[in-house]
Amino acid sequence: MKKALISMILIMALVLGLTSCGTKTAEPSKPVVYASFYPIYDLSSKIGGNKIVVKTIIPSGVEPHDWEPTTKDVAEMTKANTILYLGLGMDSWIDKIKSNAPNVAFYEVSKGVNPIKYGNETNPHIWLSPKEALIMAKNIKEALQKADPKSKDYFEKNYQSLKNTLENLDKEYTDALSQTKHKTFIVYHSAFDYLARDYGLKQEALVGMNEEAEASPARIGEIINLIKKENIKYIFTEPLTSPKPIQTIAKETGVQVLPLNTIEGLTKEDIKKKEDYISLMKQNLENLIKALE
Ligand SMILES: [Zn+2]
Repeated sequence: MKKALISMILIMALVLGLTSCGTKTAEPSKPVVYASFYPIYDLSSKIGGNKIVVKTIIPSGVEPHDWEPTTKDVAEMTKANTILYLGLGMDSWIDKIKSNAPNVAFYEVSKGVNPIKYGNETNPHIWLSPKEALIMAKNIKEALQKADPKSKDYFEKNYQSLKNTLENLDKEYTDALSQTKHKTFIVYHSAFDYLARDYGLKQEALVGMNEEAEASPARIGEIINLIKKENIKYIFTEPLTSPKPIQTIAKETGVQVLPLNTIEGLTKEDIKKKEDYISLMKQNLENLIKALE
C-alpha cells in the first residue's frame, strides 16, 4: 500500500514536472512567420532576430518559379501568425493559402516598388537590386512590428542596422557600376532587369522571366552575334539551374562563364560556406565588375 502510494506520488511529481516544463518552453511563444522564399526569409531573419521564428515556405535549394504547395504545406501554413510573400506574380499560389487561412496576416513585401512589366506580366526579381531590397526590408519590418507589437523597438533597431548595410551595398553598386567600360551583360533568364534599370546597365537574356523556359536557336544566334559585335568577354550562368545553352555559347565564342546568382534559393555549397543574401550580392557585384571592365 505504502509502495503504491510512493509510486503514485512519484508519477504525479513526474507529470507535474513535465507539465511545468512544457509550459516553461511554450510561455514566451514567439510568432511564427513564414517567408515565401529565400531572400524574404533572410531579410526577415535579420530583422526578426530572436523574437520571431522565421520559416521558409519554399525549401532553399528549390528553384521557386514553378513551385506549388502540397496539401501538407497549406495545412502547416494555416498555423502561422504571419505570411510574407513577394507578389508581382512570383508566388501566385498564395491565394490558395489565403482562402484556407482566414486567421493569418498576409503581407506583400514588394509593395511600393515601381514594377517592370512585359505586357500583362510583371518581372518579379526585385531582390537582385539593393535599391528594391531596401523597400522590401521596410515592408518586412512593418509586418513584423504588427506580428509582435511588444518587440517594435527591437525590430526597428535590427531594421536600421540592415538598412545601413543595404545602403552601403547600394552605394558600392552605384559607384562601381557607373565606372565600368561595358554596360551590356548576358544572362540566362531575365532576372536582372531591376538591377540593370537601377544601375544603368543593359541586360540581354536568353529566355524571359522563367528559367524553366528553353532558349530558341534564333535567340542563341542573336546572342552569339552580339558577343562578336560588342567584343563581350564573359557570359553569366546561374547556380540553381546551370543552363546548357550558356555552355554552348561559351564553346562557340570562347567567352568565359561566370556565375551571377539569382539568389532565389541557396545551393548546398552556399549553405556550407554560410553565405547569405548580402554576401551573395557582394559576389554578384564582383563578377559584374569583372565582366564589364
Ligand atoms: Zn527567376
